[in-house]
Amino acid sequence: MNIHEYQGKEILRQYGVKVPNGKVAFSVDEAVQAASELGTAVTVVKAQIHAGGRGKAGGVKIAKSLDEVRTYADEILGKVLVTHQTGPDGKEVKRLLIEEGCDIKKEYYVGLVLDRATSRIVLMASEEGGTEIEEVAAETPEKIFKEVIDPVIGLTAFQARRIAFNINIPKELVNKTVKFMTGLYSAFVEKDCSIAEINPLVVTGDGEVMALDAKLNFDENALYRHKDILEYRDLDEEDPKEIEASKYDLSYISLDGNIGCMVNGAGLAMSTMDIINHYGGSPANFLDVGGGATAEKVTEAFKIILSDKNVKGIFVNIFGGIMKCDVIAEGVVEAAKQVSLDVPLVVRLEGTNVDLGKKILEESGINITAAESMADGAQKIVSLIG
Ligand code: ADP
Ligand code: MG
Repeated sequence: MNIHEYQGKEILRQYGVKVPNGKVAFSVDEAVQAASELGTAVTVVKAQIHAGGRGKAGGVKIAKSLDEVRTYADEILGKVLVTHQTGPDGKEVKRLLIEEGCDIKKEYYVGLVLDRATSRIVLMASEEGGTEIEEVAAETPEKIFKEVIDPVIGLTAFQARRIAFNINIPKELVNKTVKFMTGLYSAFVEKDCSIAEINPLVVTGDGEVMALDAKLNFDENALYRHKDILEYRDLDEEDPKEIEASKYDLSYISLDGNIGCMVNGAGLAMSTMDIINHYGGSPANFLDVGGGATAEKVTEAFKIILSDKNVKGIFVNIFGGIMKCDVIAEGVVEAAKQVSLDVPLVVRLEGTNVDLGKKILEESGINITAAESMADGAQKIVSLIG
């Protein structure tokens, strides 16, 4: 789960990680009020959306008076920001962070991620801050330094110090940087983050080390033990289809293609997407209905797939193990009754109760193309929508 920058900064403050003073605002008046309460000579008006690259897209403005705060807040609120992370449709700005302006001496990059290859948290840092780290990684990878963290010991002071030296933090600020990084690490571990990215971390004119931006992502499987984080969830920022899917405990991810997929098991779902691509098609979603799906769940899954206007055909690919083919078949029939099915539907069933499942589908009177194998099904759906 993703949260806003201002929320991330609230969490970081709890861990002694220095961030500028700031306040969230939902309207122009609130923005001006927040700026006057901050009372700083320079205030920054920052669009709050779940995507980076706001600066370049006009979502971060430096204001030198309350009038300018008003002008910028008015300009940014309600605007649809298109950044390299929002996709072409962009995201509408509904909240602003009004923050104290900071006298930046230099910008750096710091990130914590879970490295699946080593199963450990890795601290990454670079003196090329403010820009996209992907670009630095592609063009000057030698400027990114890493420390692999032992989960038992945690981030040690010497590792934090070594990385501070590597990215050329001024000597007199190394201790503050160590405190910053160990605080960031504690927040990451205690709040079950999957990503903590500070871009930029800045060194200021008055010798502070601060997070000017904060991107925190959380492991959804651990949210049950972080009620405080759950409260930060902003449904406006999420795909409505994914929200609906999460209500029914379906693993659903929206994609750009036009073939809706309903599959059981994440591995089979991945290979179904691959095989659709192989035959020249493009999946509209990833969907794993799970092992113990009920007919109701399958019905909801079907409705979610069909609510996607890009979907031109559906491929149901089920390997019945714990999940029984007849249950899937009942769900498909039920869903087809509830929503008008006006796109081709290819179904491949295999495994437990397969004959019963096929019988239910045949007798339903729904227009279904049966497939004998996964490859057969993928080819059929691709040619049917062709
Ligand atoms: P994004 O990564 O989405 O573009 P950032 O929060 O990183 O947004 O802001 C972009 C740039 O704006 C920063 O690299 C920094 O130069 C400037 N900036 C952001 N916040 C402040 C601030 N409080 N004071 C001064 N400059 C800021
Ligand atoms: Mg940034």
